[in-house]
Amino acid sequence: MLTLEDYTYFTTTRSLCPACGGLVDAKVVFSKGKVYFLKHCPKDGPSQALVCGDVAWYLDSLTYLKPGTEPKARSVETYAGCPTSCGLCPQHQQHTCVPIIEITDHCDLKCPLCLVKNRDSFFLPFEKFQGIMDTLERCEGSLNLVNLSGGEPTLHPEFRRFVEHLASRKVAKTSVSTNGLGLLKQPDLVDFLKDHGVVVSLQLDGFEPATYKSLRGTDLSADKKRVLDLLIRREAPFSMTVTMVRGVNEAEVPGLLELFFKTDQALSMMFQPCCHTGTGGASFGRDPMDILTIPDVVRLIADGSGGSLKRSDFLPLPCSHPACFALTYLIKLPGGGFTPIPRIFELDDYLDVIKNNALFGMDEGNVGRIKDSIYRLWTASGSIPDRSGALKSIKAILSELNELKSGFSPKAVMSVTEKHVKSIFIHHFMDSHTFDLSRAVKCCQHYPIPDGRPLSRLDRSGTPAPETPGACRLMPACVFNNLCR
Ligand SMILES: [Zn+2]
Repeated sequence: MLTLEDYTYFTTTRSLCPACGGLVDAKVVFSKGKVYFLKHCPKDGPSQALVCGDVAWYLDSLTYLKPGTEPKARSVETYAGCPTSCGLCPQHQQHTCVPIIEITDHCDLKCPLCLVKNRDSFFLPFEKFQGIMDTLERCEGSLNLVNLSGGEPTLHPEFRRFVEHLASRKVAKTSVSTNGLGLLKQPDLVDFLKDHGVVVSLQLDGFEPATYKSLRGTDLSADKKRVLDLLIRREAPFSMTVTMVRGVNEAEVPGLLELFFKTDQALSMMFQPCCHTGTGGASFGRDPMDILTIPDVVRLIADGSGGSLKRSDFLPLPCSHPACFALTYLIKLPGGGFTPIPRIFELDDYLDVIKNNALFGMDEGNVGRIKDSIYRLWTASGSIPDRSGALKSIKAILSELNELKSGFSPKAVMSVTEKHVKSIFIHHFMDSHTFDLSRAVKCCQHYPIPDGRPLSRLDRSGTPAPETPGACRLMPACVFNNLCR
């Protein structure tokens, strides 16, 4: 436990008591180069938690704040306190960048660190799914990305109908979060997803049996290898979602990066430092004072990349709260290999490209920015590594964009950029130890919650505001995981 002599006070925010889950004040303090929360619950007493493994990273990330984008509509009409009226209330500071639609809470695994609480209680009816999409289109107009999640979404009896429906909506890209076991049972599902332009977001924590026994409760190493072989053989695009736990799978990072770089179909990696909110997650043993945080994972990636990535290639994502994400984009060089895009762009241009959108170059203003940056690159004095290769790649992207027969659309741009650009994200979901209300206010990853599902803890903590009739709530992910499950 930190005592008064051990730390320097920085500021105060609102967090949760890890014992009762109630909202409590948290002092944000610095000690020995790390950032901690010190809390006191009137009922359960004091608690402490590590929230960031590097004070310099934490303070620097706060300079990446950019104004959010106003959604076209909000499901909650009246602000009634935060997070009481969540979903989105008139004071939420960011639009829905990525909706995560939980289409079932059935799952064929019982992972000790599951992020959600699977009760095997529902398959989302198709009509409610349509209602969710109506709400999303009303609030967002069009969507760059929709994620189908669960539970294990491929277990839904109408899963393929949901995917087909999304193709008829204003959605540029669909991703499906899956453990992959369903793909082994129905290999034609891989072709179906590929034909519908869906990215398989595969849970992949590493390659070692011990990793899976610890994180997933059973050895899935052989199954994961078969899923990867299947996806690669069928040339299906996929992303790798890696849950990172201190003392369990840090040593898997170099192998995961090697697979990512050598595999054309691997479009992105998402590292998620462990978060303890779900069925097993809350009891999965760990010390809240010794967790992996974003700068720790950045260091593991830089060390594990064999020198191709540096810590400075990763920047906070200004779209969300900067403490939620770090990311880098990598452009494929004509002669093979990749170069990180932050090394070749002016920082301000790069930040503007990603400020309200986690996906690269997804609107016409962004393409203009990219063009401006390229003109500057041409006149730069040559200190940029891989400059001529990167320029060739960017020229290829721009000429493909210019040649788009269908005109400019997010779907068309994505089909071009994903051939040339890979991304690595780190997303630190919050649990009751690390929960920070100031982060939730700018969350851009939302669970659409259809009418009728109880917001249990919120209902008890205050009177929910009146909602727009027929609308579903769009709940910031960590508010829902911590306060509503
Ligand atoms: Zn308490």
